[in-house]
Amino acid sequence: MKLPRPLSHSSISLYNECPQKYRFKYVDKIPEKPRHFFSFGQSVHLALEYFYGPVLTPQAPRAPSLEDLLKHYREIWVKPGYRDENQEAEYFEEGRQILTRFHDKHAKSFHVPFSVEYNFNFEHEGVPLTGKVDRIDKLPDGRLSILDYKTGKKLAAGRLDVDAQLTMYQFACESQLGAEVGELIFYHLPTLKEHRTVRRDKPLVKELTTRIVATAEGIAQDRFDPKPTENACRWCDYKPICPIYKDQYAGRLPVAAKAAGEPALAALVDRYGDALAKIEAAKAEADAVSKELAAALKNKNYVRAFGERFEVSAAPAVKWEFADKKKVLDMLKKAGVYEKVLAPSAPLVHKLVEDPTTDADLRARLTEIGERVETTDLKLKGL
Ligand code: SF4
Repeated sequence: MKLPRPLSHSSISLYNECPQKYRFKYVDKIPEKPRHFFSFGQSVHLALEYFYGPVLTPQAPRAPSLEDLLKHYREIWVKPGYRDENQEAEYFEEGRQILTRFHDKHAKSFHVPFSVEYNFNFEHEGVPLTGKVDRIDKLPDGRLSILDYKTGKKLAAGRLDVDAQLTMYQFACESQLGAEVGELIFYHLPTLKEHRTVRRDKPLVKELTTRIVATAEGIAQDRFDPKPTENACRWCDYKPICPIYKDQYAGRLPVAAKAAGEPALAALVDRYGDALAKIEAAKAEADAVSKELAAALKNKNYVRAFGERFEVSAAPAVKWEFADKKKVLDMLKKAGVYEKVLAPSAPLVHKLVEDPTTDADLRARLTEIGERVETTDLKLKGL
């Protein structure tokens, strides 16, 4: 059957969630935004692949040292998708702790798994299938134990017994490895807890294979109708180009669509966002330092000070702050001086209050609703 790519558990789920979304992703090949939780999961999975991989000798299999494991984790850390450096650092630390606890629990009783990151590729009724199983162990009775690592905070109740991914893994392993699957495990890494269940029974496997064939037929016949639901659409990156929502994005569509499909443009958008964020951060730091500097100068009764590269001078200043901007606006309009300040921005209103030619009554009323704050203006120049 002609498909854009072999079906995996996630692409089958995506098609069944919304065929239009599948089309955007796998037929039109418009990439979704990177998500931090995928990057985090990938980083921890790669580290665990290393844990079970490199120091195996048939005579004396042993786990890598904790130091080596964490070094590898640092090296393979997957960066995209984090909101900022703080969020990335938090997740990195969480992963470090998970791996440390995992090493503590499993290094001493280290065993060689039957397979780690087992890749399967085969056809079922002409439908190409692909996937990767995190770990397969051999049970004492010779059957297989299939294990899937989970890095999310919580495991939804009841998921273990119906999860289609585990059913797919059982189906693939039994078709390809010629051994029966005895148990299926979700290994919840944040709690180091293994949630086990017995092998899937025939009706569940049949349901899966029926779904595989139906999905493949839908794709092969170009059936990509949008299937909007609250859950599917809420975080959908394709909303701006989706036929259901595109009217809401009228005028902005070409830019959004381009950004979704053009990595160079998307990179520019991100650089612009990052640069603005840096300006904000630098502004916040400058504000804090300026307050500290003004207080230090006032404390020492200095009006000027020198650094290595700059000099600063301090002059007493007064500014007015108004909590109720609307009230100020009304007053100015009634007094007929709105035009004088053009817009009631704080510096202009301040000028008006300080101007002795302003109507005395207006000045008095503004003074009543405003607060006079003494500050220090700083002027910075290069030496
Ligand atoms: S916005 Fe909703 S309907 Fe449109 S592609 Fe995304 S999930 Fe499907």
